[in-house]
Amino acid sequence: MATHKVTLMEGDGIGPEISRSVVQIIQAAGVSIDWERCEAGKIPMEKGVTTGLPDETIASIDRNKVALKAPLETALGYGGKSANVTLRKLFELYGNTRPCRELPGIAGPFAGRDIDLVVVRENVEDLYAGIEHMQTPGVAQCLKLISRKGCEKIVRLAFELAISEGRKKVACASKSNIMKMSEGLMKKTFEDIAPEYEVQGIETEHFIIDNLAHQLVRVPEQFDVIVTTNMNGDIISDLTSGLTGGLGLAPSANIGNDVVMFEAVHGSAPTIAGKDIANPTAFILSACMMLRHLGEFDAAEKVERAIHETLEEGKVLTVDVAQGVEPATTTQYTEAIIANLGKASKTYKARDYKKVRLPELDPRPDFVTAKSWESIGCDLFIESPLDATALGDSLVELAQGAALKLKMISNRGMKVYPAMAGSRTDCIDHWRCRFVRTDDSKAVTNDDITTLVEKVQAKHDWMHIEKLHLVDGERAYSMAQGED
Ligand code: NAP
Repeated sequence: MATHKVTLMEGDGIGPEISRSVVQIIQAAGVSIDWERCEAGKIPMEKGVTTGLPDETIASIDRNKVALKAPLETALGYGGKSANVTLRKLFELYGNTRPCRELPGIAGPFAGRDIDLVVVRENVEDLYAGIEHMQTPGVAQCLKLISRKGCEKIVRLAFELAISEGRKKVACASKSNIMKMSEGLMKKTFEDIAPEYEVQGIETEHFIIDNLAHQLVRVPEQFDVIVTTNMNGDIISDLTSGLTGGLGLAPSANIGNDVVMFEAVHGSAPTIAGKDIANPTAFILSACMMLRHLGEFDAAEKVERAIHETLEEGKVLTVDVAQGVEPATTTQYTEAIIANLGKASKTYKARDYKKVRLPELDPRPDFVTAKSWESIGCDLFIESPLDATALGDSLVELAQGAALKLKMISNRGMKVYPAMAGSRTDCIDHWRCRFVRTDDSKAVTNDDITTLVEKVQAKHDWMHIEKLHLVDGERAYSMAQGED
């Protein structure tokens, strides 16, 4: 029998209890794993490792390439960065997959609907790049960074996952109707790649994310695989967990092309830690995902069947799901699952799982190149207590003689200079001042922008600049509301 080597982070709160349960069940299922136990989270933070990730832990994951992680507490006052997020970013775990499958005997408004879907969430880009700045003392900005490369990786992963699990439909969800460039890039990438998989029998559809949320609570069983951007996926995957019984039952995988890390969706639940009452199901199901990654398909199914059997029997259940029976401890529930290993289960529907083919992409940072990338102006963001008219008139005057002229000013995306009839915009001290070239036959140079900035800063404070480009002749920036 092959022995697999896996990094195990037992984590904080209920982490050690649910880890014990998983290790016992996997051993009883007949899989040989050499667990490399490593610290992560609150304990190393309290020892002074501010990231919560000691070098030995990182080296172990780097070496083993497979990790099972119990929840980590983000201890307040130790730098504030979550060790969970650091792990995802450090090992480029770009895909977060969260299966959501109805379990027997779990009460809820959707019981009996046969929900069986997977949310595939982009895991490292979007607003979670964590690039935030106060633009003025009262205005905050967070950069929403979305790349074509990131979109291709997650879209291909979603399709490959569908194929590996014999699923038939992949839905993409985005807010591309409003954020046409960032969220639109996810939709466009999905539409570009979809035909490659449609010929393999996969149905595809795009949903605006708000409609997807609505559809999920009306007809959740219509969904099979849902792929989406980071923030959308964060919210939607918690929603889908709620459809089938809550966080205590929801597993997940964080997938990278080199390292894969499995974890329950829930946190360290400190209020119930140390009491032997936590529900280990989500973590056991996460371990089943890990077993499939390791090629142990039969063992994964055996453990999942034993969970189903135990829940169907409804006799030994942890307090969060026990109804009409005396709640069992984590230890008793674990023993019941072990006793049920090898039993068939009436409700379990087997899937013909295969190993997921991970997307391979060109690793170059400049993944997309253009035939032409022409600078035609800039948005200069100015902090000013003036009103729109006073600021606009002043900028028109200051730009005299520059290669760029003021086209308009917007406030929170709404054009306010020249003013539109009927405008009631409640302006804040954060102005996007759009300057465009005076001569359409010449590209704007860095020197042109520097000269403009020098003229403007004689009277006004600016906080950042964005260049305006045409990419292959097409506008590569959004227009303000009311701009023509
Ligand atoms: P949480 O740990 O998920 O717990 C919220 C509540 O959910 C618990 O109080 C408990 O409810 C219930 N619960 C969660 N898991 C359960 C289980 N396995 N069995 C039974 N009940 C369970 O969320 P939180 O309180 O917001 O977060 C606590 C800490 O965990 C924070 O430091 C947070 O940063 C961290 N966290 C880590 C991860 C991760 O490592 N991936 C994820 C989320 C949060 P009752 O109190 O009603 O029993």
